[in-house]
Amino acid sequence: VKIRLAFFAFCLLAGACRAQVPAERGPQNLSDAKNAVSRYCDSGDYRRDFEKVIFEARAWIEERAARRSPGERLAVVMDIDETLLDNTSHIRSLDYAYLPVEWDKWVMAAKAPAYAASKALFLRVRELGIELVLITGRTEPKYRACTQENLRGQGLGAWSRLLMFPATYRGKAAVLKSELRASLEKEGLRIIANIGDQESDLSGGYSERSYKVPDPFYRSN
Ligand SMILES: [Mg+2]
Repeated sequence: VKIRLAFFAFCLLAGACRAQVPAERGPQNLSDAKNAVSRYCDSGDYRRDFEKVIFEARAWIEERAARRSPGERLAVVMDIDETLLDNTSHIRSLDYAYLPVEWDKWVMAAKAPAYAASKALFLRVRELGIELVLITGRTEPKYRACTQENLRGQGLGAWSRLLMFPATYRGKAAVLKSELRASLEKEGLRIIANIGDQESDLSGGYSERSYKVPDPFYRSN
């Protein structure tokens, strides 16, 4: 009887333990995800992965510029946030939360640093006599002055054009961004490289090559 009781108790206990440890289900735990992003940034892997893409873009742009046909008007398109300007410190100060009011204050403060590799590429493109067109989902008129101020403050004032979204635009970023590139090509510019951190910066064509830098923080369509 004692053995049967002990066995019964064991089964109950085992069942209870099992009930307390359910199988892992659902999405990745949010704290784990944030820790992984922090490690990616702090280890230097983010910067290394980022620079690898920028260096590839630079090699292509230099190669392509060297065999430019006479009269060919070459252009490079770059995105701004998480491509030229680095918002990591703001994003991490809020533990990766996106708070529109705080984001707005951050953008208006015009203090985002430039990614060093992107800045070097920007300057190299201009040195090669290639047009540099910035296409950003930041809207105008509201964000034009602060965006220009931020770029100039980082030594990035020599863009050819800064194309922003109208505040009234409600469509997909990818659609408008590719339409803007199409209109540049229609004007006779040849876009040899398009560089951004989101698929929506790059999809839809109108560029000889596209380069996607990593963005561990957010995804926009
Ligand atoms: Mg971006």
